[in-house]
Amino acid sequence: MAPNAGRPARTKQRRGEGQWALGYREPLNPNERSKKDDHPLNVRARIENIYARGGFDSIDPGDLRGRFRWYGLYTQRKPGIDGGRTATLEPEELDDSYFMLRVRLDGGALTTDQLALLGEISQTYARDTADITDRQNIQYHWIQVEDMPTIWKKLEDAGLTTMEACGDSPRVILGSPVAGISKDEVIDGTPAIEEIRRRYVGDPQFANLPRKFKTAISGQQDVAHEIHDVAFVGVEHPEHGPGFDVWVGGGLSTNPMIAQRLGAWVPLDEVPEVWAGVIGIFRDYGYRRLRSRARIKFLVKDWGAEKFREVLETEYLKRPLIDGPAPEVPERPIDHIGVHQQKDGLYYVGGAPVAGRSSGSMLIAAAKAAERAGSGRVRLTPQQKLVVLDVPETEVDGLKAELAEAGLQTEPSPWRRNVMACTGIEFCKLAIVETKARAEALVAELEQRLAGIQDGLDNPVTVHLNGCPNSCARIQVADIGLKGQIVTDDEGNQVEGFQVHLGGGLGLDAGFGRKLRGHKVTSAELTDYVERVVRNYLAGREDGERFAQ
Ligand code: SF4
Repeated sequence: MAPNAGRPARTKQRRGEGQWALGYREPLNPNERSKKDDHPLNVRARIENIYARGGFDSIDPGDLRGRFRWYGLYTQRKPGIDGGRTATLEPEELDDSYFMLRVRLDGGALTTDQLALLGEISQTYARDTADITDRQNIQYHWIQVEDMPTIWKKLEDAGLTTMEACGDSPRVILGSPVAGISKDEVIDGTPAIEEIRRRYVGDPQFANLPRKFKTAISGQQDVAHEIHDVAFVGVEHPEHGPGFDVWVGGGLSTNPMIAQRLGAWVPLDEVPEVWAGVIGIFRDYGYRRLRSRARIKFLVKDWGAEKFREVLETEYLKRPLIDGPAPEVPERPIDHIGVHQQKDGLYYVGGAPVAGRSSGSMLIAAAKAAERAGSGRVRLTPQQKLVVLDVPETEVDGLKAELAEAGLQTEPSPWRRNVMACTGIEFCKLAIVETKARAEALVAELEQRLAGIQDGLDNPVTVHLNGCPNSCARIQVADIGLKGQIVTDDEGNQVEGFQVHLGGGLGLDAGFGRKLRGHKVTSAELTDYVERVVRNYLAGREDGERFAQ
């Protein structure tokens, strides 16, 4: 008989994880100390009253590398700092005196006036940079602190904000780019997104979280809900009708995890309350000792979905939730590219830049084209694309031509359509390799080399490029995920390259790509590698077989 047979298993005692609800109020790392010393939202007044007047050198380092993020500001990387040396440099050595600025666009929703304004701000203050991120934001570069009061005034006069675009806060809420107009959605989540934003964005009670907190709300499965801290996914309840299925604890980066269903159905008007309960649990029980374990996914993994739901119901909502069914998974990924009829008979038209690379000029051209076609609304997508809504049928062809001229193709090749890239070494201080320009070259080269066979790709092959081990471009859920790192080439030189992850996906194939030993490729050989993988897949697959199967 085994020595421990018959005895209850001993629970391993964890050291304190810095959970406020368990009494760990004393900050346990420098980030927590910084947030306790001064509330991050207070930095706005200092930027307007002190730093905008005194310039970059007047900025307190604690604000510069910490609290600025709560208003969407990061210092960008000094131009020309080589990726291979990054590990030997202190963070401040990489700081440029220019900033990246993120404008949060909840649900990716914009009027054409707002889109044109974002373009004008880019041209005036950001050297015509304005990338579309995979979180439906617009991201500027080359911003100077002196210009921030004017930029905020222009944005806020138009109903836009950078508040909590970054930082340990509730970040932009992803929403369906076709919410309210799609024939395929179970329910329109827009009112819930707007209400959460109205009640809670900038609310000090949720502005000091253990780490960032990402939300997705959609009436259909087009927002990568499986990899969010909290997600509300449209589902039809057999008794109660359309509402949302609640998921918690997803996330990528290191230690990627797929979110877990709570098995609870929530009606539209209760989504903000349930959201506040989930983020409240994260604030109170989230792990604050180590930044590397601070995302809500670690708490959900330790507790499990059942305990999480129980705490949500008993301590936060003070009532039980209704049990609900799982949503049906669509057969194909949804990206809204091309021309589609809306439920009101008008059309929406989705156009693709390359890997989100956009500009102020592109945004202005898209806004003018949309207005000429009779539209007043656009949405950005979680795939780094732009969709024009409410287009009459007679205007569709003209709009398609104008968008293409602006750099937004509505009938893109599979490569342009399915390649995504993060910011990379051009501007990001954490980056090890170039990504955006590499993605652009990859798309152009694959369009040439695979022109004869790309029509055979009835199931798309997604290729995502990251500049470092973080996963801003969601590499673990791509068919071909590329994690930037320094690799050794055939001559023994240390050069830019990628660790390959193969076979990840969302939806039907939700799971993480396998990191194959030895599958490392130099940046220069990347196109050869992707071409080889795609040709092998097409040659060896069964009819209709997807890449991840
Ligand atoms: Fe920067 Fe890395 Fe994120 Fe790319 S993945 S934007 S390199 S932090």
